[in-house]
Amino acid sequence: MIPLVDLARQYAQIKNEIKQAVDQTIESMNFINGPQIKKFEADFAAVSGAKYGVGASSGTTALQLALAALGVGPGDEVITVPNTFIATSESITHTGAKVVFADVDEKTHNISPARIEKAITRKTKAVVPVHLYGQPCDIKAIDDLARRHQLKVVYDAAQAHLAEFDGKPIGHYGDAVCYSFYPGKNLGAYGDGGLVVTNSEDLRKKMFMLADHGRIEKYEHEMEGFNFRLSEIQAAILNVKLKYLPAWTKSRRQLAVQYNRLLESLDVTVPFQDERAGHVYHLYVIRVKGRDRVLKYLHENGVGAGIHYPLCLHLQKAYAYLGHNKGDFPAAEKYSGEILSLPMFPELTLKEQEHIVALLKTAVTGAEGNKARYV
Ligand SMILES: *Cc1c(COP(=O)(O)O)cnc(C)c1O
Repeated sequence: MIPLVDLARQYAQIKNEIKQAVDQTIESMNFINGPQIKKFEADFAAVSGAKYGVGASSGTTALQLALAALGVGPGDEVITVPNTFIATSESITHTGAKVVFADVDEKTHNISPARIEKAITRKTKAVVPVHLYGQPCDIKAIDDLARRHQLKVVYDAAQAHLAEFDGKPIGHYGDAVCYSFYPGKNLGAYGDGGLVVTNSEDLRKKMFMLADHGRIEKYEHEMEGFNFRLSEIQAAILNVKLKYLPAWTKSRRQLAVQYNRLLESLDVTVPFQDERAGHVYHLYVIRVKGRDRVLKYLHENGVGAGIHYPLCLHLQKAYAYLGHNKGDFPAAEKYSGEILSLPMFPELTLKEQEHIVALLKTAVTGAEGNKARYV
């Protein structure tokens, strides 16, 4: 059995340190807005290329926090992609704004700057591009069009910890960059967690207040806010794991190079790499004909491959109210039928990769013997 992600292998390496950090936090009885959070906010912002970090209870609330603090609300439109996890669009809707989808680039599967421009109206207030699978979007083109149209940019970097663009960490760009520490992410907590990084002192202050009931003092509230705080225990865990993140990221990149090489002779499309983008391979996603049959074969042989994501958001029941039809976003829709995420986690071995690719080869060439069962 080779799962898509194996969290237990990682835990085995850092178990003692984690237990000590959790224990110390509990002993301190300092559970809310404590020193672990302060340390993590500062350290994560620094490695992300930004001045400030503001903790959040999840990646979803980090996105909502950034949008709300930038003044996005009822009457506004916010542009994002249809091929993402629903958290991206939910966070827009929960500010009171309307989600507007734009199709993706044919090569990268990331938002197409040209299609953002086409979706802009008088009501457009912000763009939420997603650095999908860990590969940064065309940040240069997006920041440029945002400047021309006076739009705010909040990047969804839930899958892109330590990713770079044009030689700089992605936290350097945009108004705010939002991260998730959901357990399976490149930097995962042992529960939910999130963080926004920004270079604006003003935005930092607003987000900090909004995340904590709009308060300045314990019972003095500048505005109504939320309870979107990061947990001190999760921050203590993240402080331990952050030290290992550069090595884990290096390993993901190496595994991607190995997959690329092993897959060379197969009739599949390996991930496109924008040479300006420092991809961190949260997911290693190939495109393959007969995807459902291939996926089934891998599952039957103990390989936990997945699909990210099988049904575009504009075709989900949750967004029926937007009135979209099949064919509205052809690139994103075409991919959703062809993509396949292969197991990817820092502790995966070359031997396991060879085994996965051998199974894939059998499935792709149709030599799995009882092919008739699958067609
Ligand atoms: C995981 C994820 C989120 C949401 O993060 P949570 O911490 O689970 O709330 C948002 N956007 C994308 C692209 C994600 O992958």
